[in-house]
Amino acid sequence: MFEKRLLRPIVHWRLARFERRYRYDMSYARELFELSPRAFLQFSKLFGLAAFAQDLPPALLYAAKFAATRHEDCGPCSQLMLDMALQAGVPRPALQALLQRPVRIGNDCQCFALSEALGGAADGFPSMFGAILGTGAGGGFCVNGRLLAGYNGMAGEWGHLSLPASLLARHRLPLWDCPCGLQGCLERYVSGSGLEALYRHLGGAALDTAQIAQRAAAGEGGARLCLDIHLDLLAHGLAQLMLALDPHAFVLGGGLSKLAHLYTELPAAMARHLFKGVRVPPILPPHFGDAGGARGAALLALQSQHR
Ligand SMILES: [Zn+2]
Repeated sequence: MFEKRLLRPIVHWRLARFERRYRYDMSYARELFELSPRAFLQFSKLFGLAAFAQDLPPALLYAAKFAATRHEDCGPCSQLMLDMALQAGVPRPALQALLQRPVRIGNDCQCFALSEALGGAADGFPSMFGAILGTGAGGGFCVNGRLLAGYNGMAGEWGHLSLPASLLARHRLPLWDCPCGLQGCLERYVSGSGLEALYRHLGGAALDTAQIAQRAAAGEGGARLCLDIHLDLLAHGLAQLMLALDPHAFVLGGGLSKLAHLYTELPAAMARHLFKGVRVPPILPPHFGDAGGARGAALLALQSQHR
């Protein structure tokens, strides 16, 4: 059992270390710890099962997603906890025994994609890729309204494709470590936190993505350059997905999906990373916004009942 008072200094120290190393905002994890001892206890059950307690910060990253929903007993939270458990390698039978109910496992980015493929922005398209650009960059690939999760359940983890040396050199960017253990992952540059890191790298202040976009619109050269570099890197990433999957539509999600210029400028930017004559599919804003993950989780459970 966690003793909050005793654990607090350890949690805060390790979160601070994680933030320094990866420049991730872990405030949600702190919030979970302070606001919801019960959620933390539930979390600790899976901790014990997963035997990954030594690796606290990555585990708290998933707790952070859980905390972000602010509910302890609802379906979406359970889905996120299951996602966390899956990532930690907990077998599904153990989870079913723990929760005493059938369990269907999906990750939140894949659930977002499913939600947009069924009744969402890409409803009716034969295939679609949902690309989330938030704290990280995740996603999911759907064909005919069903998720293709893959052998490891990780189809859609495009944020951990590597940026080529040619692009890093073109924009004079350093090779950044990624929390996943690899280097130079797209996520570190093109996600919301990636955009903020790019702005700081170019000499800018610690601003959030909306503020950077506002400064660019107001004519600040550094912010405009930052958005141009970000657009080029993101276009490369989506073009890579086209080469691998050739989806009939992209739906963007996460905080950066609110940036209007992406929908107008990405098609031409992507074409520069593809063969001549390739048609870039529609790039669409999300229909369900932040609720998409929860809706997709419900659809996933529904589809497994009517297989
Ligand atoms: Zn990575």
